[in-house]
Amino acid sequence: MTTVTRFAPSPTGRLHVGNIRTALINWLAARREGGRFLLRMDDTDAERSTEAFAQAVRDDLRWLGLVPDGEERQSDRGGAYDGRFEGLAQAGRVYPCYESPEELELKRKVQLGRGLPPVYDRAALALGDADRAALEAEGRRPHWRFRLDHAAPIGWVDGIRGEQRFDPALLSDPVVRRADGSWLYLLPSVIDDIDMGVTLVVRGEDHVTNTALQLQMFDALDAPAPAFARAALLTGGDGKLSKRLGALGCDDFRGMGIEPVALLALLGRIGTSDPVEPMADVAPLVASFDLGRFGRAPARFDLDELAALNARVLHMLPYADVADRLPDGMGESGWAAIRPNIATLAEAADWWRIVTGPLDRAAEDPGAGDPADADFLAVAAEALEAVTFDAEAWKRWTGVLKAQTGRGGKTLFLPLRRALTGRDHGPDMGLLLPLIGRDAALARLRGDG
Ligand code: GLU
Repeated sequence: MTTVTRFAPSPTGRLHVGNIRTALINWLAARREGGRFLLRMDDTDAERSTEAFAQAVRDDLRWLGLVPDGEERQSDRGGAYDGRFEGLAQAGRVYPCYESPEELELKRKVQLGRGLPPVYDRAALALGDADRAALEAEGRRPHWRFRLDHAAPIGWVDGIRGEQRFDPALLSDPVVRRADGSWLYLLPSVIDDIDMGVTLVVRGEDHVTNTALQLQMFDALDAPAPAFARAALLTGGDGKLSKRLGALGCDDFRGMGIEPVALLALLGRIGTSDPVEPMADVAPLVASFDLGRFGRAPARFDLDELAALNARVLHMLPYADVADRLPDGMGESGWAAIRPNIATLAEAADWWRIVTGPLDRAAEDPGAGDPADADFLAVAAEALEAVTFDAEAWKRWTGVLKAQTGRGGKTLFLPLRRALTGRDHGPDMGLLLPLIGRDAALARLRGDG
């Protein structure tokens, strides 16, 4: 059986880091088994769902590299839902209810007041044809509930949480359709999962009761249920639930200079028994993917850890992966020289400006260009003119200078680095010098480059 997973966001807002992790786990589960990963827009809430958000979801998934093998939208599938709904109504598994929200609220209060669980009392099941006709004559239109089978205990093995049990008698029959005919998400989701052949549903922590209710819907529709797994919550770096996480999305990560693969490398490993490690692409995540390695405890998502991982990922990225985002002219050798010294790709452009010059010394490092080094730099310029200028130029040149001036270590290298780059730290000078070029290097040593 081919693994089919789906990511089912509601296009009522931007994806946040928790959604992204759910998408990733579903994507990985499909990739790992050579299966299919579907995108399903849960847009039954017509008022809050927008095409702009749907497009933003697609764009975010594309940026992340979690490209779906197909897309469906619930708003296009009303016909499929109507057919199944009719069947369920005939079988008495959905039934019309007429209580207003206020009446339901009152019932709940009374139950709670008596110390009872606020479970829907199924009063509507007792209505006869005449009662219903009378209610309709008052102008009431029914909403519909799915009738849970109280005689069928609900149990399943969650792929992450293990054994789960629910007593259906302790759950309210869920409303599946509103009085205006519009759908709530629960039943359409089941019908979609059946029609799309979904075999595994990885969803957020908040959906446990929904899973219990939906298992009975699969049964009522005579269809096998997919496997379910519920990913643990994400907490911030301090281990606490954080509002901020609910707002962090792809635009924020892009703005921070985070590479998508770094974000995925972190989200794919936190909360699992595998280590977080840098990777140039997600192949190691796919290869190591195993739902059984995900834990039940909340997973810590730490922005500092992400930033550090991002730097380590960048240091591994081959030129071809970044070429179209590098400044013009910064070829493979430029990337090789600069890559080890950046924490975000934007910093590569800063370094490339330093290579190509002219140096803005005041902006780079006001402390550079110590007058005490002036004589040394003049000697250095002369020596540079004399050495063969090739890939070994730096080694040869500093060797000559060491012999000539007796300087060594920091007193030899730092004034040269400062004169050539305007900074005290940075990429390997042996690699930078050929990129700067002899003429520009001489001009900088003489203070006019
Ligand atoms: N639209 C639901 C959500 O975003 C889907 C949950 C699910 O069925 O996995 O929470």
